[in-house]
This record gives sequence, C-alpha cells and structure tokens, in this order.
Amino acid sequence: MQEIGGSGDNSWKILWKLKVPPKIKVFWWQVLNEFIPAKDILNRRHIEPVGFCEWCGSQRETIKHIFMDCTTARGFWRETKALTGVKLPSLHPLTWASDIFQDEVCSERDRCVIIIGMYALWTQRNRKDHGEQQLPLQKAVQWAVDMAHDFWQTTKQAMQRTIGFSKPTWRTPPTSCMKCNVDGVFDPRTGQGATGAVLRNHSGSFVSGRARWYPYGLDSLALEALACKDGVLLAAERGVQRLQVETDS
Ligand SMILES: [Zn+2]
Repeated sequence: MQEIGGSGDNSWKILWKLKVPPKIKVFWWQVLNEFIPAKDILNRRHIEPVGFCEWCGSQRETIKHIFMDCTTARGFWRETKALTGVKLPSLHPLTWASDIFQDEVCSERDRCVIIIGMYALWTQRNRKDHGEQQLPLQKAVQWAVDMAHDFWQTTKQAMQRTIGFSKPTWRTPPTSCMKCNVDGVFDPRTGQGATGAVLRNHSGSFVSGRARWYPYGLDSLALEALACKDGVLLAAERGVQRLQVETDS
C-alpha cells in the first residue's frame, strides 16, 4: 500500500480496482504523481507569477488546498456529508493522496465518493481559472453547495455503471493455459492514457501484473488495443505458451 505514490506495478493495481469512471482513474494517477498544476507548484517552477488561491486568498494554492482546505472545498465536503453520509477523514498533509487507499482510513465506497468529489472540485476550479468573472467567496461557497448536489446525482449513476461493469464473474482458463485481463483508459482532455494487465494461471492465482502510462494517446479504443498488446507482451516475457486475453470492452 505504501507504494501507491510511486510508478510501480503496485500503485496501478490498487488504482485499477477503484470503482470509478476511467477518466477519474487517470486523474487520480496525476494527483498521486503530483502532475496536477496547482498554482503553488507552478509558482515554484516559475511558471505562475503568484502562488496564492484566488478564491479564499490563502497564501499557497497547493493540491491539498484545492481539494480540502479551501473555503469552497470545506463547503463542498460539508454538503457532501449531509447528502451522502461520507465524511472527509482528517489526513496527513504529505501522504494524504495515498492514505486514502488504506482501509483503516476509509471504506471503499467513501474512497470512491471522495475521489470523484475531488475530480469535481478540480474541474470546477479550472472552469473558474479560464473564466473572467471571479466569484465573491460567499457566492463560491454557495456554488460549492450546488455542485455537491449535482455531483451526488452524477456520482450515483457513475458508480452504478462502473460497479455494473466490473461485476462479470471471472472464469478460469483451461489447465494448459494462462489468462490475461487487460484494460485501457483514456482521458480525452489531456490526451493521456494508461494500460493495465493482470496475468493469472489456470487456478486463478496472480502471476504477474503491469501498468504502462501513455503520455500521448489517440482515443480510448487505441488504448484498449495497446492494453491487449501489453498483456500479450507481459505473457511472452513470462514464457507463457498458451494465453487467453480478456478485455471488458
Ligand atoms: Zn482557497
């Protein structure tokens, strides 16, 4: 569980199991690897002249600030708790993004709601960034409350969809065969994607797994095709003679 912030196989395996839409898996991958261009990060890299939060005036707009500490984020989570019963746990300032994956920190359902909620906060923050009009704080909090409502409506549907997708019963391959389950995700907004492959033997035991990040992707179908290729390569490296490849799309 510790390795989720790294780029190893392990982090992907955990992220993979999240019952959230694919684009949100990609988003969370970016959060874990600090690819999210918060002002504080850009400021330190001398890309942005200012590093403060334009909403609440806090000195440093860090990723954690956008998602948890900003006044709008607090309003959002307060309302989300009222609607869903999901409470944002108190989290460590440095390891929070990976701590969310610890079962002692939050349940699977809470984890999904929290991650989708943070995605909603991020997309709204960018909308604000590109718009001319700066909402006064009072209005921004009201907006956060409204968004929490909208967010819960879409989340319910999204979670049903993704849970529905990941439910098919896994069937073991014939005795002489191994089976590789592959999946590709693509985020059209950034043009990035990733593939994952899990190799299992005929009794269903885990043999090997791999994740690959694709900084330039074409579309989701292309990423699915790359996932199949990566799965076959993984099996070939393991000396697998007979292989079943399975994708969920
Ligand atoms: Zn703020």
